[in-house]
Amino acid sequence: MTAPNIDTIVSLAKRRGFVFPSSEVYGGLGSAWDYGPLGVELCNNVKQSWWRWLVYERDDIEGVDSSIILNRTVWKYSGHEGTFHDPLVDCRECKNRMRADKLEGYFPPEGKEVAFDANARLRAGLVKCSECGSTNLTDERFFNQMLRTTLGAASAEDDPTALAYLRPETAQGIFINFLNIQTTMRRKIPFGIAQVGKSFRNEITPGNFILRTREFEQMEMEYFVRPDAEHFKLVDEWVEQYMEWFVSLGIDRNNLHLHEVPEKELAHYSKRTVDIMYRYFPERDEEERQWEELMGIAYRTDFDLRSHSSKPADEEGKRINPDSTEDLSYFDEADKQRFYPHVIEPAAGVNRTVLALLMDAYSERTNDKGETRVILKLSPQVAPIKAAVLPLAKNKPEIVGMAKAIKRSLQPVLRAVYDDTGGIGKLYARQDEIGTPFCITVDHQSLEDEAVTVRDRDTWEQERIKVVDLAENLQKRLKP
Ligand code: ATP
Repeated sequence: MTAPNIDTIVSLAKRRGFVFPSSEVYGGLGSAWDYGPLGVELCNNVKQSWWRWLVYERDDIEGVDSSIILNRTVWKYSGHEGTFHDPLVDCRECKNRMRADKLEGYFPPEGKEVAFDANARLRAGLVKCSECGSTNLTDERFFNQMLRTTLGAASAEDDPTALAYLRPETAQGIFINFLNIQTTMRRKIPFGIAQVGKSFRNEITPGNFILRTREFEQMEMEYFVRPDAEHFKLVDEWVEQYMEWFVSLGIDRNNLHLHEVPEKELAHYSKRTVDIMYRYFPERDEEERQWEELMGIAYRTDFDLRSHSSKPADEEGKRINPDSTEDLSYFDEADKQRFYPHVIEPAAGVNRTVLALLMDAYSERTNDKGETRVILKLSPQVAPIKAAVLPLAKNKPEIVGMAKAIKRSLQPVLRAVYDDTGGIGKLYARQDEIGTPFCITVDHQSLEDEAVTVRDRDTWEQERIKVVDLAENLQKRLKP
């Protein structure tokens, strides 16, 4: 079972401290969200799992953490200043403002390839407003998605020399550090560089909870290979590895789906992109409308390293990038060749991964009394809390003391909490709803036999375990 829709997760997330609408005391800020005590743990666990998988468990990937604000020239040569924009249209009927390329009818149907003219399609009434269904839409206009800021205390609002951008992707911070990392870590191609961090895009229509926001977090990796590598095959290999990673985090493969991005929709740097889609909208009747992008795997060629390099010249011998002071090429010792490495980029979103995990983990179960309860079947490796220690009688100081001591003894090895704010049934229900894999109950007998009851979230089965064996037992069961 998965969540019937995103709204179910929005209310669970708010009720139980995963995600809150941001700036609520001032009426909120459209599509901005704050991660609460459980949400921040879930995000951290996803990021740690990703980092462990790529940077620790493989031999060919290094990590980096670059600045969010980079020299503005980076965005000139990466192509973002010129082309990182979305088409915008207004509906003349309901006045809704929308991103045109997400609307029904914007692209010609597959296979009927004709010269693509968006305004001709808009004027012919082939494109529909997402709000009211009208086809009375304006022509499209382009809107750059990079969020601007100004640097320096004295900078005036419109001073072009002070203009800077909040990065719209983490990737450029990797490309401009390629040579630093390759030389200091003495890396030979193929190798990759991973980065996780915030990115910002002034989205025209943010929405659907944490699926599309203006501030979000990415986990990106640039994998550098030889120019003559089998790039398309490498894209497929990374797609398969990420599919396996998502499944290992607890996502049902049936809720994942691959989408080969058509040529006309490719980003300016991409020769091929495959998106891994997740079924974020299971409530929609038509299957093809149930999916939205979870991540993309792109073949970026040598576009970025070449663009940021000082040497490449045009036909007349003029430097293409007169601002760069470095040549980001690579010298292959084996065959004494210098070249710009090509890049395969798997780019995933932390927030979209978290939403997919919450939706996939959602289930309901009815107990003997006919009460329906929510159980969040998160994989133990991402669950915010691994074990809750619960005293059966909170007015018995010996039981409370023992429970608190057990919680403290578990702390160094796993995330544990102590809770005595309700009856045991209520405490179990609360932990089930936030996805805690194990509840540990300390009762009267524990004082005599030095053992506790460990209850499994998914089966509700209980097992008696000696306190001395508890940490090791739980650690074993929590292993991915
Ligand atoms: P979309 O087509 O949905 O706008 P995109 O193709 O522009 O996404 P990429 O540039 O490939 O996205 O970014 C890589 C990943 O970063 C996405 O797959 C997604 O997980 C995440 N991401 C991108 N934009 C946002 C956003 N506005 N909010 C949340 N996550 C995002």
